[in-house]
Amino acid sequence: MGLLLHAEGNGASTSQRLVKSFAPATGELLGEIHAATRDEAHAVVERARRAQAAWGVLPIEERCERLLRLRDALVDRVEEIVEVISKECGKPRGEALTQEVTVTVDLLTYYCKNAPRILAPRDIGLHLLKHKASAVHYAPRGVVGIISPWNFPFVIPMGDAVAALVAGNAVVIKPSEVTPLTIAKAKEIWDSTGLPEDLFGVVYGFGEAGQALIESGIQKLVFTGAVDTGKRVAAACGANLVPCVMELGGKAPLIACADCDVERTARAIVFGGFVNAGQVCISVERVYAHETIHDKLLSRVRDLTKELRVGNPEGDGVDVGAIIFPKQIEIAEKHIQDAVSKGAEIVTGGKRRPDGQFFEPTVLANCNHSMTVMKQEIFGPVVPIQKVSSEEEAIRLANDSHLGLNAYVFTKDRAKGKRIAARIDAGNVVINDVLLNYAAAEAPFGGVKQSGYGRIHGEDALREMCETRQVLSSRVPEPSKDPFWFPYSGKSYRWQLRALRALFSRGPLLERLGKLL
Ligand code: NAD
Repeated sequence: MGLLLHAEGNGASTSQRLVKSFAPATGELLGEIHAATRDEAHAVVERARRAQAAWGVLPIEERCERLLRLRDALVDRVEEIVEVISKECGKPRGEALTQEVTVTVDLLTYYCKNAPRILAPRDIGLHLLKHKASAVHYAPRGVVGIISPWNFPFVIPMGDAVAALVAGNAVVIKPSEVTPLTIAKAKEIWDSTGLPEDLFGVVYGFGEAGQALIESGIQKLVFTGAVDTGKRVAAACGANLVPCVMELGGKAPLIACADCDVERTARAIVFGGFVNAGQVCISVERVYAHETIHDKLLSRVRDLTKELRVGNPEGDGVDVGAIIFPKQIEIAEKHIQDAVSKGAEIVTGGKRRPDGQFFEPTVLANCNHSMTVMKQEIFGPVVPIQKVSSEEEAIRLANDSHLGLNAYVFTKDRAKGKRIAARIDAGNVVINDVLLNYAAAEAPFGGVKQSGYGRIHGEDALREMCETRQVLSSRVPEPSKDPFWFPYSGKSYRWQLRALRALFSRGPLLERLGKLL
């Protein structure tokens, strides 16, 4: 690629900071984009606000119909998108296709089909004010800001954007400074659809650009990123009273029960631990294996891990691609050193590769909670395994974490799986599978504890993209004066007292009605 793209084509000067995109697999400079200044970021939001004014008043069916043009364009140009994601992230093309584009297109399809029902005004029966009718209406908020990370540079911002747009908002995306070209491609495709260009704004840049977005007068923010950044972003949202969704880090435990299908569990651990080179917020980040199946599971995980082909994802037959930048390799190395110094055994892997920004898929055995690898997010291709003597112990250890995004339980007894799921502190618990919950468009996704708050996907997240407006009206002809209005009197006070006692005392209805007299 190597081209210089201008953010929003607004003539930013070359003396400004540049966002540079490098291919992690080769080190090649793929492109550079000017980082937006604060004023430029605010101008993008202002244009988005003007575009939203016309978009938000369209009937929802019309908005959905028009947004299907985006789906058509994404499907037509899917291989361009896959190529840029794969290059910019160093991930295999199949992962870019299925986990990013397919999930986005499916979410768009789901929302376009169901939004008219989900966002239809809802009548609410009032139990006390029976003479009134109440309905909740869902109105667009305005401009929704989206700040996103590098590990899924397409599906994360595009999924949030789709929900916001269907609900009648404009969006302004601040993509990660590490992977700006993926959203540049999405923007190019958006602009080709004939949909209003300013409705889909992009602000390229670093943390300051994200900060400028939060302070630009947006009506909501969806943030996805690290816990520490999330705390700063949530504070800035608080200072500006911007409602926000926080999608932060994860430390997904996988509990392998004594009665699990060992082959499926081993394959799930290897896929869930090493997909996207482990750089996934819902990766399998720690395994608790029951002692009766531990050795068999460990040896199968080791053998399957050794079969993985690591390298430049442009080549055919690569399972595990590159690590996004050197610091992420150093984090993995530190965890491994700490674990080994405390008695962990490297079963396979354990080293960076000499031929580029790659790390050998690593399995650690004999792990315990004194090790950072079991407690802190790794975000790399390292799977630590701890032997446990009971499911109780596994549940206790799974909950011994400041994070709570995904969790996994493997057992042939589904009822038991559900009982265990009910006791795990996580936003999402998956039984006998890994990662797949993110692809369930209808189901809410998000974390508890320091993994964040708020949800994306599903009905609630779509409604959350809206302001709720209650409309209260009368079901009967209104009198010229209500009994609670002015002027107050001792008589009306005493009547209200009797009414309270009649309504809220215990006992048979007739007896309570007697309190009115
Ligand atoms: P990061 O926190 O470094 O960056 C995320 C985004 O925040 C980037 O666009 C960055 O430019 C921006 N940013 C940084 N400082 C900012 C500030 N002060 N104000 C506003 N914006 C600011 O995260 P990352 O390294 O890109 O992503 C990895 C992290 O994201 C991991 O912890 C991972 O678990 C998490 N993640 C969570 C989910 C989820 O759904 N919960 C999904 C993917 C990744």
